[in-house]
Amino acid sequence: MTVRFDQNRRRFICRWQEPTQVVIDKKTGTINRSRVISIKVSETGKLNKRDCNRHEGHPMYPHIDRFNRKLNQMNYFPLKQEGHKCCCCGTSESVSPHYDIGTKTIMWLCTEHQFGCPTADCN
Ligand SMILES: [Zn+2]
Repeated sequence: MTVRFDQNRRRFICRWQEPTQVVIDKKTGTINRSRVISIKVSETGKLNKRDCNRHEGHPMYPHIDRFNRKLNQMNYFPLKQEGHKCCCCGTSESVSPHYDIGTKTIMWLCTEHQFGCPTADCN
């Protein structure tokens, strides 16, 4: 389960797997379906009202809200910050913030490592 901020689309994107029952050839099985919600953010770091209203009751919404507040606290908006390095490979190219729900911390990851970092301690 990850929450990341897409700097090009100015959206928080939250992706997780949800076990879903499916019937294939009259057999019932469970597959992990990939689910996603996203919330647009203004230049000044405000969550889009319409997206908020749509997702407010969602269990992932509080994480996005907290992530956004953290980015605001570190003055991430309105200018995206330079000088962050991918905590995986150390590059500073196309690095964007990700929110670790477990540790409630922000990680910086490049596009290559945004869906998973091969090293375990990635903070
Ligand atoms: Zn990287």
